[in-house]
Amino acid sequence: MSPGKEPAGVLSSGGRSTAARAAAVGALLAVGLAVASWTGSDGTGKDEGDGSGEGSGKVTIVYGDGVIKPQDRPAVDALRKSRALEQLADWVNTSVALPHDLVVKVTDKVPPGVTDAVTQPDGRTIYIPPAFLTQVRDIAGEVVKTVKRPALLPEDEYNVDDLTALSTRFVFGHEMGHALQRQLQLPNLGLEEDAADGFASFHTVNEAGPQPSLAAALVFDALARKEGGLTLEGLSSDHPVTQQRVFNFLCYLDGSDPKRFDGSLVGAGYLPKSRAPLCPQAWAMLDHGWWTQLQPHFREAFRKQGDKSRAEARARLIAETKAFAEKLEELRKNQ
Ligand SMILES: [Zn+2]
Repeated sequence: MSPGKEPAGVLSSGGRSTAARAAAVGALLAVGLAVASWTGSDGTGKDEGDGSGEGSGKVTIVYGDGVIKPQDRPAVDALRKSRALEQLADWVNTSVALPHDLVVKVTDKVPPGVTDAVTQPDGRTIYIPPAFLTQVRDIAGEVVKTVKRPALLPEDEYNVDDLTALSTRFVFGHEMGHALQRQLQLPNLGLEEDAADGFASFHTVNEAGPQPSLAAALVFDALARKEGGLTLEGLSSDHPVTQQRVFNFLCYLDGSDPKRFDGSLVGAGYLPKSRAPLCPQAWAMLDHGWWTQLQPHFREAFRKQGDKSRAEARARLIAETKAFAEKLEELRKNQ
């Protein structure tokens, strides 16, 4: 507990101090989730369908140019130029048969109280407020100035605009995770927030490489420092605490290819040696989990490729589970 810090709920009420901005971003997605968790995916009272047949829903990205404030232009322009949102939208449109359209709106015209990226309870609208993007860009700017460039991020991508776009790609992955869960009524065996973070890792690691996970880890790490000590509100959130999310992002990335990433993530001190041995199996579980969840919803044109990816993920999970069992005794001895 940190009695010197205001709880996030107070800070996210629109204050303008640095701490307040940090907390507003820190509540990342919390507002939208709170809405969803109270009203549930059936909040509209409409039948979402039984998931059979190929849905014709499409993801579209809408930049509300007319209502974007001048101070938010740099962040919106950086994101737009990167095509980070469009790349994930294209992947979903190619791979997944959504039952309903999903509109992603980068706009200030948001429901009352929305200050962060949020997914509506029915999974058919994602709001990304430009002011939220500016908050991400401000933190990215501080990271670039104060944190030595990790070896995995190329020098020409270690700048405020690229870091904003890369970390937003990850955040958008989180929101897409919510939208997929809600539209497809995916069964969850844990908290929805964890699954949403998991989809961000699953998608970006497989489709975009290490940069989005690493950029998000850097931005969330800076955010965790701004948030200060743990509060009751932070601990009781449906999200893992911010610093924990940083290590989860890094763990999945490392586990996806330890031979490639151990040196620059574990060796360089970003991911503790105590966590790293768990990550190959954790990644294999996540990768297999998402392919398995999405498989009944593959578009016909994607089915062959998707089935192959799922089969490979399953083989990998079996192999990593065996490998973990074999090294477990040694790990326990070294505890
Ligand atoms: Zn969320």
